[in-house]
This record gives sequence, structure tokens and C-alpha cells, in this order.
Amino acid sequence: MDSNTLEYAKILDQQDQLASYRKEFYLPEQKIYMDGNSLGLLSRRAESTLLALVDSWKTLGIDGWTEGQYPWFYLAEQLGERMAPLVGGKESEVVATGSTTTNLHQLVSTFYRPSGKRTKILADELNFPSDIYALQSQIRLQGLNPDEQLIRVKSDDGLTLNEDRIIEAMTEEVALIVLPAVLYRSGQVLNMKALTNAANERGITIGFDLCHSIGSVSHELHEWGVDFAFWCTYKHLNGGPGSVGGLFIHEKHFGKEAGLAGWFGSDKTKQFDMNHTMTAAGDAGAYQIGTPHILSVAPLLGSLEMFEELGMERIRDKSLALTAYMMECIQAELEEYSFDIGNPTDSTRGGHILLLHKEAARICQALKAEGVIPDFRAPDGIRLAPVALYNSFEDVWQTVKILKKIIKEETYKQFPNERGVVA
Ligand SMILES: *Cc1c(COP(=O)(O)O)cnc(C)c1O
Repeated sequence: MDSNTLEYAKILDQQDQLASYRKEFYLPEQKIYMDGNSLGLLSRRAESTLLALVDSWKTLGIDGWTEGQYPWFYLAEQLGERMAPLVGGKESEVVATGSTTTNLHQLVSTFYRPSGKRTKILADELNFPSDIYALQSQIRLQGLNPDEQLIRVKSDDGLTLNEDRIIEAMTEEVALIVLPAVLYRSGQVLNMKALTNAANERGITIGFDLCHSIGSVSHELHEWGVDFAFWCTYKHLNGGPGSVGGLFIHEKHFGKEAGLAGWFGSDKTKQFDMNHTMTAAGDAGAYQIGTPHILSVAPLLGSLEMFEELGMERIRDKSLALTAYMMECIQAELEEYSFDIGNPTDSTRGGHILLLHKEAARICQALKAEGVIPDFRAPDGIRLAPVALYNSFEDVWQTVKILKKIIKEETYKQFPNERGVVA
């Protein structure tokens, strides 16, 4: 049977063992949501734990810190334990705290100690702007010049990075390496194990940004010997807009003084002694700063259940099947319309497809007008993320069909080729 048909997509959906999870989510009505890598959708379980914590505030007031179903005082650590399997960390190595950017600041200020010849930070030229801004400012805080101290490994094709090139750049001048696990535009999954090995051999500290990988691909951070990692939870983990992020710190670094200290990094039994000499927690908890954002961490309590029930392997398998099917449909339907696939097509692809087209900005607007939610990444990228927990093979088929209609009938020409404020 021709795979590029609605009937075939429906057969794939019938065979899909994760299909029942779709009804756990609030799917925007009459829309096909393909943007779960920017903002994951709300699930009923996330909604219910959010409401439970609003209720604990309502009924318990200050006592909510230690009483009720989810005492607030311990949530950051408990959620750390629950996220640990997603990153391959030990329970004590992970904590829910901060945001991607603030956690990066915390970890770089903890680990970046330029001295002698080793003064540079190694990153890449395709990195997300916020990460680069944070690294530049951390270099400035050391009284150094980011133009001299920040190395950005070049990409040969503007889309992907070559691990060998990154390893070649790990010279004796490099003090710290910060790289994405999955690149936000092309979705390339970097070989974290090989990169970490190379960094460890050269005595260079290495950390990864897991924003686009957590909840989408698996990691073995502890086993690989990664020094640290950080992430947000509003993309594949479906924690809600601005939900609290997470960080991993390898246990070999436990006891290392936090660059940015604050009382929530205390040993929990000592925190309320109110002493002016801090007794830091002996695990990842030490890298928290202030009072946790309880209402912004609450949805994760429910959302993570689904990852626990399924395990990352099954989620990744379905994700790969969805993106494989999407590429198949694109090749069959869009061949003559000057689209290029910008993501790696092999198993080093992450959870989304990157379609390149010079009219990408207005094609995205036309897609939205037709009920498909993509996101645009300047200058020419259309990201489409069919998410394992809530997208179907039929969604994928429909998306490509609508894309073809827009291109064939040239309806995208009604829109200006400009981006909106967000995306
Ligand atoms: C989403 C994302 C961010 C966002 O950082 P916030 O601090 O949550 O605003 C940063 N870096 C990367 C690579 C991302 O994908």
C-alpha cells in the first residue's frame, strides 16, 4: 500500500501503542499542533497538579511548605529525583530549579575559573542566543574580553556541527565547554558521549544544554561523565509557559561551592537556622538560589507521570517513527517545490523536522491560517515537531497535505515574508 495516504496514516495510528496518550492532552480545537518543541501542550494531569497546589495555598497558607499532598519545601528535590531517569543522572544529581539561562549562569559561575593559559570557553556558532549572551557576560564578569575568550566552533553547512571539529578545538587554552545536546534549528543530536570523553581526557569541564533533548531523546549523563547540564521543562516536558527548569551536576563535583549562592542551596535541615555562614546541601540541591516558583513547578508533578509510565525508549521510538513518516510524505509530495530537509535524516535527528524554503516566513503564516501550528526560525526555517505523546500519524499526513496545497495554490503569497514577534 502506498504509504502516503490517509488510510495508511490511520493504520499507523491503529498500531501505535502510545495513541491513548493523545486524549490526556488538551489539543487546540480544529488545529494541528506541530510546535511542541517550543511549548508543549497542557495535559489533564498537569492541570490537576497545578490546581492541587493552588488549592494547598488556598487551604493551608504558610503551612503548605510542609503539609498537604505535595509539601512545597521538598518539591525541587523530589522533581529532581523524578527527572533524573530522563537525563541518566542519579537522583541526587538533579534538581528542579531556575530557568535554562539562570541555571547556565549558575553553572558557569561555579565551573569557569580561567587561570594561566586555560581561559577560554568553547561553544558553537549555531548555539541559541541566550546561551551565548550568558557566556559572554560570564567572561566579562571575569574581567576578560568575550571576543577573545569565547570560541564558537564553525558549522560547515550552517545547520549541523561536526564532532571531530569540536574535539580539534579542545585545546590547552580551553577551560570550559558548553554545547547543546540537540541543536534548536536543525535538531541534530550531538554525540555527547564522544565529546565528553574527549573533554575528560583533556581535563576540560563540559556541560550540555538539554532544552531540545530532555523528554525527546535519552541521555546517560552520569555514565558518560558529563560535568553538568541544564534545561527548561516547557518544551518536550510540557510543564507550561515559563515552567521551572532543571540542572544536573555530576556527583564527583558534590561539595563544590556554588558560584551564585542563596539560602535555598542550603542543607534543608539547616536552612532555617538563619545562620550567616551557609551550610550548603551536599548534592545538586546546593545550586538552587532563592525560593522555588511553586506554581510554575506544579504542572510537572502531573506531566512527568506519563514519561515515567512509558520510559524514554518507547517515546523516542515513536518520535523517530513520526519524523520518518513526515520525511517520507515530504519526499513524496513536495519534491518539485524547492523545499530542503535541514535536519539530519539518520538517527542523529532529534524530535523535529526542519524544512528550508526561502519563503518560509509567509509559508508559516499560511500554515497557521490553515490550522497548522509550526514555528518559524529565521531566515528560512520551518520547524515541525510531531510529538510522541500527543501527535498522530494522521496529523503528520494532514500537515504535509496542507503544506502542499499552500505551495501549489500559492496562497502563501497573500502574506508578507516577515516573522511575527514570537517565532
Ligand atoms: C528554549 C531554549 C532556551 C530558553 O532559555 P530560558 O532561560 O528558558 O528562556 C535557551 N537555550 C536553548 C538552547 C533553548 O532551546
